[in-house]
Amino acid sequence: MSDDETVTVAHGSGAGKTREFIEDRICSRFADAGGDPDLAVGLGALDDGAVHELGDQSVVVTTDSHVVSPLSFPGGDIGRLAVAGTVNDLAVMGATEPLSLTCSLVVEAGTSVDVLEGILDSMQAACEEARCEITTGDTKVMGSGEIDGIVINTAGVGVVPRGEHVPDAGLSPGDKLVVSGPVGDHGITLLAEREGFDIDGDLTSDVAPINDVVEAALAAGSVTAMKDPTRGGLATALNEMVRKADVGATVDETAIPVRESVAATGELLGIDPFDVANEGKVVFGVEAADADAVVEAIRSTERGSEAAVIGEVTADNAGRVVLDTGFGRRYLSEPEGQQLPRIC
Ligand code: MG
Repeated sequence: MSDDETVTVAHGSGAGKTREFIEDRICSRFADAGGDPDLAVGLGALDDGAVHELGDQSVVVTTDSHVVSPLSFPGGDIGRLAVAGTVNDLAVMGATEPLSLTCSLVVEAGTSVDVLEGILDSMQAACEEARCEITTGDTKVMGSGEIDGIVINTAGVGVVPRGEHVPDAGLSPGDKLVVSGPVGDHGITLLAEREGFDIDGDLTSDVAPINDVVEAALAAGSVTAMKDPTRGGLATALNEMVRKADVGATVDETAIPVRESVAATGELLGIDPFDVANEGKVVFGVEAADADAVVEAIRSTERGSEAAVIGEVTADNAGRVVLDTGFGRRYLSEPEGQQLPRIC
């Protein structure tokens, strides 16, 4: 990247360009700069959150900004997304009981107070679902046209017994890969909404806090790695997980749950449901012997009823995900150059 380059939408798309941008411009400055020996997971790990060891506990911290357009969509709104996004990032680090959530609101002058109150009500309801509270925050108003609508940043803090956090880099050959339910719902719903597709009304975002799903999984067996497949979808999450652990994976395409309406709309839009954001799903690595028990436990939760084993981790093909389509095999690569801005 040369220095006269400007930031483009692709820098925020979630795939390779984003990773390069974050590594070159941000991690190079801040990652592990202090050499803190109690920092178990730092910025350079590019995980879902940071982990600080503190006495006999590990403190998990995460933050996310939400800029979704439109503000409201089938299945949720920016408020629900802001709470779920942060609760879920804590959960996939192993912190399923959020200790504290922050809410930083940036609102454009001219925004309807009714609309804003609807979003805040939605945040409150999502907090109740996730069994957490917003305990501090900040509110700024910018002039009309200075930002577009509403931006919400949420940060979260959670605590786990020392060393019991789950990184996204923990896969080992032989582990089973499990997904907690159908993929692509959020991304395809948002894109269909924007394109003005007259759909049958059965497309709905999956946006939800899923800390209970993770809690059930962790109680049922040995989970080696977790990630919420948000920006960049299942394809990006799987590729990140195998790359970080220096392992490969073979995934059975026919085992990956995708709703019929999502698959059909994805086909019309020319978008693969594996490539777009989910906001209420988790990808797990699970020790093979525990896979059935973990899937059963996830299925016992409301939002995990369609959980499935989708593949397994391999020693060969390090850094790559091989997709078995039923007709042949190909690499499942990360969506590159696809510009799907403001989806989360
Ligand atoms: Mg995440």
